Amino acid sequence: MMDLSRFRLHCCWQLKQLLCGYEHIVKQRLHHSPDLVSFVLELKTVLEVALKCRPECRSIPPPQYYSQLIIEMEDLGWDKLVSIDTEFRTLRLRAEDSSGRQHVVTVKLKPKHPVEAPWCSADLPVPLAMTWTPQSSLGHVHTQFLLLLESLAEFWAVLDEIDEKTWVLEPEKPSRADTMRRIAIANNVSIKVEVDTRHPKMLPECCLLGAEHVVTPLRNKLNANMHLWNPDCSILQNLRDVLEIEFPSPATHEKSSFSAECGICYAYRLESAIPDQVCNDPRCGQPFHQACLYEWLRGLPSSRQSFNIVFGECPYCSKPITVKMSTQKP
Ligand SMILES: [Zn+2]
Ligand SMILES: [Zn+2]
Repeated sequence: MMDLSRFRLHCCWQLKQLLCGYEHIVKQRLHHSPDLVSFVLELKTVLEVALKCRPECRSIPPPQYYSQLIIEMEDLGWDKLVSIDTEFRTLRLRAEDSSGRQHVVTVKLKPKHPVEAPWCSADLPVPLAMTWTPQSSLGHVHTQFLLLLESLAEFWAVLDEIDEKTWVLEPEKPSRADTMRRIAIANNVSIKVEVDTRHPKMLPECCLLGAEHVVTPLRNKLNANMHLWNPDCSILQNLRDVLEIEFPSPATHEKSSFSAECGICYAYRLESAIPDQVCNDPRCGQPFHQACLYEWLRGLPSSRQSFNIVFGECPYCSKPITVKMSTQKP
């Protein structure tokens, strides 16, 4: 009897893909086979089972599927096709909205297409719900997608203006699905707005971030001038009027003037977080990541914790500083 327990199985990627999920069985058979020949026979059995259970093998579409697909694509226009996978099951279709923005919808066809509705997804801030009947086609998907894009045109126009004319600190690279923008106002001062997809020009949810002595006057302005909000104007224009400020823009400022590093880890981005805690002392104003400051204060004997808030001293100027427990992933 040969000891195969220390043997390892190396194989090509195709075989590896087939054996995916069966690794523990293969290992077990390798340990218990008396010799190589019996292991290979065992492996053959495992592969037969694995092949039978592969979902793709059970559901290879009939030939009509492919002829139907070609008819539908010819109807829609091949210029709309961005890509298709090797199994002719997943298509990416392009669509341009009336403002010239380019979009892509991913369509996964079922083997029983068009009897079964395809699965569709796209970079959108709202769910992509499609109506489908057995008579529907890719053309229907495309038309419905275009209609949905038009219903979001005003929302994207509002966000495009913000992205173009201000320094957006978060998200780093906004996608079409992102409804939030954190806009720089000054060094270590920013405003976070959450834009409503259906009412993109209404007063959005706003949150001012920065040292108290800078944020408080802005918050007071926001509250005092809220009634001036004009839903016929864009969010950016309204924010300018209500806060009585000019936002620094790529035309007037370098982005580096707003991306001050954290005073604890000396980095700007920690995972995806940017420093959003600031020392309230006007002469200090040092920014920190929430997670960094929390960990730092918690480690000091002079700090005090009450519920999820830690009270301690600023690592830079020793003035009192507080931080909430980090809710984001560390
Ligand atoms: Zn940090
Ligand atoms: Zn400080």
